[in-house]
Amino acid sequence: MLRDEHACDRCGDPIRPGEEYAAVDGVTPDGDLRVLLCVPCADALSRFLDGE
Ligand SMILES: [Zn+2]
Repeated sequence: MLRDEHACDRCGDPIRPGEEYAAVDGVTPDGDLRVLLCVPCADALSRFLDGE
């Protein structure tokens, strides 16, 4: 759960404490990556990962 408002790392929309969001952990050539996504961006990401 978020304690502070956070901007979606993809679209920049604010994610407020208590709202649903997705936390995605990954590894890039530059190091670890952790992004917070709003629900629409999380949906878009899961469709992308499904190959759509
Ligand atoms: Zn977003």
